[in-house]
Amino acid sequence: MNCIQTKCVVKRKSRETDETFSFTHSKDSMKKNMCDRDRPKRYPLLSFWELPEYMKDNEYILRYYRANWPFKQALFSLFRWHNETLNVWTHFIGFLLFLGLTLANLMKPRMADLLQLVTRSFSSSADKNVSHNIKDMFLGTTLLFDLNNQMPLTIELQSTALVIARWPFFVFLGGSMFCLLSSSMCHLFCCHSHKLNMFLWRLDYVGIVVMIITSFFPQIYYVFLCEPHWQIMYLAGITAMGLFTIATMLSPTLSTSKYRSFRAMLFCSMGLFGVVPAIHACFVNWTNPRRNITLAYESAMALSYLTGTLFYVTRIPERWKPGWFDLAGHSHQIFHTLVVVGALAHYAATLQMLEWRDSFGCDTVP
Ligand SMILES: [Zn+2]
Repeated sequence: MNCIQTKCVVKRKSRETDETFSFTHSKDSMKKNMCDRDRPKRYPLLSFWELPEYMKDNEYILRYYRANWPFKQALFSLFRWHNETLNVWTHFIGFLLFLGLTLANLMKPRMADLLQLVTRSFSSSADKNVSHNIKDMFLGTTLLFDLNNQMPLTIELQSTALVIARWPFFVFLGGSMFCLLSSSMCHLFCCHSHKLNMFLWRLDYVGIVVMIITSFFPQIYYVFLCEPHWQIMYLAGITAMGLFTIATMLSPTLSTSKYRSFRAMLFCSMGLFGVVPAIHACFVNWTNPRRNITLAYESAMALSYLTGTLFYVTRIPERWKPGWFDLAGHSHQIFHTLVVVGALAHYAATLQMLEWRDSFGCDTVP
């Protein structure tokens, strides 16, 4: 092969290589484009200064914001790190916790029936005394383990014949679930659009009102069970006040900044309204052997809510070190956690009330 021939071969080969390269390259870019089209677009996280005006709320949280994200992207951001991830999860886990408690309480009577059936079948074939003891162990556990209660077991079993309504207890559980779920959905989807953002924050306020009102229900119902006039008066009062506050929160005019002080006054009056039946309840419950433990749980609830509100209002700790707590540890996450703790303490107090009424009905305890 002479020099000219070699040059030609090299030229042809390089042309072929070029063609192959350009073909593979265009194939690759086509593939890439198709993949890019198929793959959901990863939306960038923004800094505080890049946010639209309606989303600028906490100037101490500097980065990891989502803004104007499509609905699907906002939904999948549940599994992505941004400054709302823990706000969503703290209340979503709280919601799942209360859902579990509701289901457990709904199943309770059925489980007791099942145990009764099992122990009955045992009693027909085995020693009756032994099966009776097993049945007492399961059905009367709370009574046997109540150390404050010095009443003989026989008297307690007789008074359990009075059936105490469960609906106020479930009203509270339902209200808590509504508040926790609406709050987590609000934090997840508030980045979608201005319109949805406005609606969701209104829903979040409504959720708080619903939780406050429904928390009063079991306490008022069980404390004033034997004084129906007080029971009806307090329940009607708190329901009317709650419905009025909800209507206010939903009204577009009254939810503007012009009426902020009016809304704050409504929240305060709801809280103050609770003081009256609470003091009254202390007098009514004075002989209740579970008074101290109920009061301890309710104090834990009040402390959790107050501390949470303090964090919420002061924006501590992020105001001390702006940008340090963007992802984890900022005031709203602490506030959310304390709301769940407070709701659990109130749940424990309500259980004490319910068990007391289940045991004694309207009997006065010496
Ligand atoms: Zn929140």
